[in-house]
Parts: sequence; C-alpha cells; structure tokens
Amino acid sequence: MKRIAVFTSGGDSPGMNACIRAVTRSGLAMGLEVFGIRSGYEGMIEGDIYPLEKNAVSNIIQLGGTILQTARSKEFHTVEGRKKAYQNLRKHQIEGVVAIGGDGTFRGAHVFMQEYPDIAFVGTPGTIDNDLFGTDFTIGFDTAINTAMNAIDNIKDTANAHNRLFFVEVMGRDAGFIALNTAIATGAEAVLLPETTTDLGKLIEQLENNYRNKKRASIVVVSEGDEAGGAFKIADHVKEKCPQFDIKVAILGHIQRGGRPSCSERVLASRLGLEAVRALVAGKKSVMVGEVNKEIVFTPFDHAAKKHQEINPVLIEMVDLLA
Ligand code: ATP
Repeated sequence: MKRIAVFTSGGDSPGMNACIRAVTRSGLAMGLEVFGIRSGYEGMIEGDIYPLEKNAVSNIIQLGGTILQTARSKEFHTVEGRKKAYQNLRKHQIEGVVAIGGDGTFRGAHVFMQEYPDIAFVGTPGTIDNDLFGTDFTIGFDTAINTAMNAIDNIKDTANAHNRLFFVEVMGRDAGFIALNTAIATGAEAVLLPETTTDLGKLIEQLENNYRNKKRASIVVVSEGDEAGGAFKIADHVKEKCPQFDIKVAILGHIQRGGRPSCSERVLASRLGLEAVRALVAGKKSVMVGEVNKEIVFTPFDHAAKKHQEINPVLIEMVDLLA
C-alpha cells in the first residue's frame, strides 16, 4: 500500500482531530502518502481530496470539531453516488481509507466495500454517543460526558439557590450512555433513558415524596431519545400534576459536541488512528478498530454498526439508590 486517505463523517465529536493527526503522522512515518477528504462522503463524491503533510496536522490535537469537516451525504446512499466516490479515490490512486465516524458511516463503508472491494476501508469509532459495538469507548464520549457534567454542576448551583426542579436534556437519540453517566456523576434524582420504559407516575411519586421531606431542588437528566418525549414535554406533564414545583428546563444541545478533547480522549484517538493505519498496511479491511479492556480489537463494520453496547442495569439502579 502506497497511498491512504482519511475522512470524518456523520456527527462531529471531540478527538476527531487527534485521530486525523495520528493517521497522518503514522502513515507518513510508515512511508505512505496520506490524503485528506473534506466533508465526509460528500467530499469523496465531489473529489475534494488533498495531500496531508506532517505540518498540516500541527497544533490540532487539542481542538474540538474536525479540520476535515464532516457531512451527512444523501448521494452516498445511491449506487451512482458511490460510483463517483470510487472513481475519485481511484483517480487519486488511493488504496486504503480510514473512516472516522459512527454507525451510519460504517454502514456506508460496508456497502461501498461490497461493491468495490479493491479499496480497503478501516474505521475508527468517532461519535459522542458511545453506541458502537466493539469498543469500550468511542472517540468523543469522554469529553461529551465531562462537558455535560460541568454544565449540570452549574445548573445544580442555581437549582439549589432557588429550590428548583430542573429537567436537563442531554444528547442521545438512541443510546442513553451520556444521560446515565452524567446523572450518576452529578447525583441526579432520576435519569430517563431510551433503553428503559419511563414511568412518569413513579417519577412524580418520588419527587412529591422529596417535596414533603423538604428536598425541593433536584435534577432529572433526560436523554433526548427517551420515549416519554423531550424534557419540555415531561416537565409540562409534571407541572400539570404537581403545580407546587418550581420547574425549569435546560437543553444542553450542541455544547456537548464541541470543546477541547479530554486527555483520555486524545490518547484513545491517537492510539486508534495509529492502529487503523497499521491494520490497512497489514491488509485488513471492512473492520472498525476499537479498544476493549485496553486491547485493540477489530470488529466487522456490519457488527459494529448493527449491534449496540448494553446499558449496565446496575448503573441505572445506582441512580435511584444514591438519589
Ligand atoms: P453519528 O453517530 O454521530 O450520527 P454516523 O456516522 O452514524 O455518526 P450518519 O449520518 O448516520 O452518521 O452516517 C454518515 C453518512 O454515512 C450518511 O450521511 C451517509 O452518507 C452514509 N451512510 C449511512 N448509512 C448508509 C447506507 N446504508 N448506505 C450508504 N451510505 C450510508
């Protein structure tokens, strides 16, 4: 293998830049030429592909976002779109590609590789959701939970000052890892997750009980994908049943995606980037590189994207027990 490319795709996550840097620097150190593809599969289809030199990735390890930018591409879902992408990769004589993204990115890479097996794709898990199978942690998760935790700590100050009940919505459409971890770390009263059935009656009972016992400031962490609706809807429901509560809602939103990656994020992203290049050179393809129990593990794209890490029920119980 002489020439590889790297791209970021789907939702951005802190640590993607550290991974781009690691792919670039390790590729160059192994004697490869390294190219960057801008804006995910969109850039592949448009031929937005350029060489990355060593200094092109200087001073980015500490930055959130992605210097390659990212996108969601409708065209890559079509046979014609993927053909254009293939032609552009061939035009640049690219033999191996490192895809940094989430489950959708790997589903796309899996389809592409079935059609064009002569270009090898290897993935690294770049998503704040931690919802991929085959890695203990995804690149972006640690930073996102720390950002959410710090924000909730701030909200707790004002909740306590005013004796208010806050419903704080965190990211996680399909997976509640961000909600569960931040709920434990901030000593929340309750957590509502997409993986469990929300019992609003039980929640109200718990909150009323607290109220009677003079505990009037509380945080309830709501995952955006919880089936009972978003934080506003749940707060309205609780307000209707319990008009005595002073209720506020905070949606943390995109602040969870940005910001400087944590130390462990940068280490993970660097290691996975390096191992992805090693995997390409060793002839691996159609796999995601992950870290499980500190060991490097390769998981086929379709498994990584289809399966899901399980939420640990002991951690859910812990929120209740320690509230
Ligand atoms: P995140 O977890 O942060 O949302 P993601 O990688 O899952 O990241 P998606 O938008 O789901 O983000 O996927 C990224 C891109 O992968 C899509 O915009 C699309 O171009 C491509 N893709 C996803 N699924 C397929 C598929 N089945 N066939 C072809 N391309 C796909």
